[in-house]
This record gives sequence, structure tokens and C-alpha cells, in this order.
Amino acid sequence: MIIITPKSPEYNTSIQEWNRAINKFPYLIAYCENTSDVSEIIHYARKHHLPIRIRSGGHNYEGYSTGNDCVVIDISKMNNTKIDYVNNTVKLDGGTKNTELYNYISNEGYPFSGGTCPTVGVSGYALGGGWGYSARKFGLGCDSLVEVELVNYKGCVLTANKDKNSDLFWALQGAGGGNFGVITSMTFSLPPKVDKVTYVRMYYPGINKNIQVKVLDTWQKWISSVDNDINLSGGLYNTKKKVFTLILEVLVIKTLRILKSFLSLFII
Ligand SMILES: Cc1cc2nc3c(=O)[nH]c(=O)nc-3n(C[C@H](O)[C@H](O)[C@H](O)COP(=O)(O)OP(=O)(O)OC[C@H]3O[C@@H](n4cnc5c(N)ncnc54)[C@H](O)[C@@H]3O)c2cc1C
Repeated sequence: MIIITPKSPEYNTSIQEWNRAINKFPYLIAYCENTSDVSEIIHYARKHHLPIRIRSGGHNYEGYSTGNDCVVIDISKMNNTKIDYVNNTVKLDGGTKNTELYNYISNEGYPFSGGTCPTVGVSGYALGGGWGYSARKFGLGCDSLVEVELVNYKGCVLTANKDKNSDLFWALQGAGGGNFGVITSMTFSLPPKVDKVTYVRMYYPGINKNIQVKVLDTWQKWISSVDNDINLSGGLYNTKKKVFTLILEVLVIKTLRILKSFLSLFII
């Protein structure tokens, strides 16, 4: 375990969250390398009456994974992933990031109902529900969770699944992170392999507000009538840099026919 304190040269970089507006000053940051480290640091924090924060990818918008005068349990160094081909599941350490999981399972042809940002932590993502481009097809991230290993507030290691600690397991599927203990590993069921995925990014700069509204309206009417192989997200901008810009990102899992029907809607 690596401990960073305000006296360490790495302190200023270690306290940095994804949201640069968060300025919090923990008492220490503990980079754990295994479950025993997590238990040990929980015992330490309890003994010294220090509040605990848990950090995986550090992408919480409000900075819930850090705080002032607290112990940050950072598990980003715990990032092993392993496919179980017999049970069709993938087990990953609690600090695994989206990109680490995608790189590993996509090499084997598996998709995953993960989020869009590569550096988000999978545990933070799935504990909050987890929406991604393939969510219409495969469900939310938490829907494919089959088991978690967690270190609780006493430093004890628990397993939760539908049969064991099932109430805890239920609560971990979308209730948000950091409330019930430190997740040290998660096991997800894997969807069937896919061999074709198409990603399209559409960028419409300089359009007016009426066209933005028309596109959103057309999209909302259309999406409920097509099958779940397609999903999309959109961003509307009206800033100095991007004056009335619309950005649409589309993922199609197999049938390109749907993509054609989608594109034909937007030939304005
Ligand atoms: C750029 C960006 C893009 C995003 N894109 C998506 C998206 O496409 N889909 C989507 O659903 N969400 C998305 N999000 C939201 C993101 O999924 C959540 O903010 C998520 O909680 C971040 O997880 P993290 O581990 O990176 O963050 P952290 O800040 O480390 O953790 C977030 C919360 O979960 C807790 N937590 C983290 N790890 C554990 C653990 N192992 N055990 C217990 N508690 C833990 C923390 O204490 C904190 O409360 C995005 C966020 C950003 C900043």
C-alpha cells in the first residue's frame, strides 16, 4: 500500500479529481493494492476517528470520492480482469476503469454495457446504475452484475449475490457508491459476442434553435419504434465556441439497416 500525505511530493497530483473545481485536502490517500490493504486502512481510519472516502476513477461530478481531513481509499491500482468462459462472466477488481475492461473483453469479441468515458471507474459507474450506448440492448451496467466482494465498515470481507447477503446485493445495484463498503471486485455476466459495431458521430455546427428542437423531436418519436440494436446520445450547445451546435453520437450493434433509416430522418 502506498500512503500519500500532505508532506509527500505527489500530494497535489494525488488529490486531483476529474472535476478540477473540486478542491479538497484529505489527511491521507491510501493507494491499496489488494483486499487486505483495504481492510487495514479501514481499521486505521476507525482507530483514529477519521472519515473515509472511496475512490476508483475519481469521476464523481461533485467530488464524493474525496474530502477534507479524511482518509481516501484509492483502489485504482486494483485493476485485474478475468473472463470465466464456463460461466460466461467477467470478474474485475474494484479499481478497473472502463477502458481497461473494454480493451480486455473486446479482444475476445465481447461487448459490455459500459459507459462512454474511458477513464470512469467501472465500480463507480455500475454502483450508480450505469447507462451506456448499448443499454437499450443489454440493460444498465448494474443489470448484469452477478456478484460483488466488499470490505465493510469493520474491515470484514463480504460476498454479495442473489443468494448471499441478497439485500446488500440489491442495494448495490444502482443506489450509488461509497455507502455500504469498499467494493474490491465485481463479477458481471457477459452478453453474447458481437462481430460488428458501428459508431457514428454527427456534428452540426451553426444551425438555429428551431432545427435543434426539430432534430430532438424527430429522434424521440423515432427511437421508440426501432429495435434495441441502436442507441444514441445528443448534446446541444450554444456557447461562444460552439454557436448553436448539435452533436449526436450513435452506436449500432449489428443491423446497419437501422442506421440507414436513422440517417434518412436527418437529411434536413
Ligand atoms: C466525463 C464523464 C463521463 C461520464 N459518462 C457516463 C456514462 O456514459 N454513463 C454513466 O452512467 N455515467 C457516466 N458518468 C458518470 C459516472 O459513471 C459516475 O460519476 C461514477 O460514479 C464515476 O465513477 P468513478 O469510479 O470514476 O468515480 P469516483 O469519484 O471514484 O466514485 C464515484 C462514487 O462511487 C464511489 N465508489 C467508487 N468506487 C467504489 C468502490 N469500489 N466501492 C464503493 N464505492 C465506490 C465513490 O465513493 C463515489 O461516491 C460520467 C462521468 C464523467 C465525469
